[in-house]
Amino acid sequence: MNAGNAVFELNEKCFIPSPTQQIHSNIIESAGVELFVLRLDLMHPWVNGNKWYKLKYNLLEAEEKSFSTLLTFGGAYSNHIFATAAAGKLFGLQTIGIIRGEERLPLNPTLSFAVQQGMQLVYCDRTSYRQRHTPELHAQLRERYGEVFIIPEGGSNLNGVRGCTEILPEANDFDVICVACGTGTTFAGILLSLTQKQRGIAFPVLKNGGFLKQEIDSLLESYLASGLPTPNNSLCSWELICNYHFGGYAKINDELLKFSQQFQQTYDIPLDYVYTAKMFYGVMDLLQQGFFRKGDRILLIHTGGLQGNLGIQQKTAKFKT
Ligand SMILES: *Cc1c(COP(=O)(O)O)cnc(C)c1O
Repeated sequence: MNAGNAVFELNEKCFIPSPTQQIHSNIIESAGVELFVLRLDLMHPWVNGNKWYKLKYNLLEAEEKSFSTLLTFGGAYSNHIFATAAAGKLFGLQTIGIIRGEERLPLNPTLSFAVQQGMQLVYCDRTSYRQRHTPELHAQLRERYGEVFIIPEGGSNLNGVRGCTEILPEANDFDVICVACGTGTTFAGILLSLTQKQRGIAFPVLKNGGFLKQEIDSLLESYLASGLPTPNNSLCSWELICNYHFGGYAKINDELLKFSQQFQQTYDIPLDYVYTAKMFYGVMDLLQQGFFRKGDRILLIHTGGLQGNLGIQQKTAKFKT
């Protein structure tokens, strides 16, 4: 059987189509807009969100090239490590996770899940970890672990962008698409799938996220130069909104915690603190400032990542005692 087909078959069998859900509130109504949430968090209990889309064509390439082992990189709370471990198990591939920093026991929920899924964890000091994109380190890793298919941290390569061009439902009629942004890979894929009439807005979750403008431009450029399929040839307008990072990557405060708890109570939609809570907070705030045009149909992409909340709850519980 063609391995690529196996991925697509599993794709059909394992993943439920992500529902789009409209939400209502006084703030939304007063802004004169309609607001929808695309629930990528619901597609599969473990392999979901943008991390699945970023993995998809990497898995396909690994299978087409007959690799039996995936090797990738991530921090100790990484959604990508979690998803790669689960996807490896689901698709019958071995997985090795190069984890930034030293081993801490007991393992946090992310890493103990990864181990349960069969991932081999290899800890890497922070200095060597900085070499994670270099051919030298990749050669060393191949020497030590054999013929491994290397996926970059976060699944952030052109295969990752390609998968993210498939996030939105085809021929959708939203005016504005909002997404939380780490490396910009997901946003780049989404932009490639929008028409010229649509608008993309990304919310970097790290401090001083303005540098992502260039990163995203160069991702778009290399994607278009690569000959990989593009749903649209013309790019829409897009912007970064950089002031909802709450102090930086994985930083949270009481206001953000309260916002996501209230949001979950009101709409029965859980948000993760690292990514989606910041973007949803930002959108709600911008609505009150009259940022959007009256009549806009706005789509917020719930990129998943909920597994990370377990680790954060553990950390904040420790904090408080
Ligand atoms: C990784 C992640 C992102 C950011 O994706 P990029 O492609 O790096 O911008 C957004 N949301 C969630 C939940 C994530 O896990």
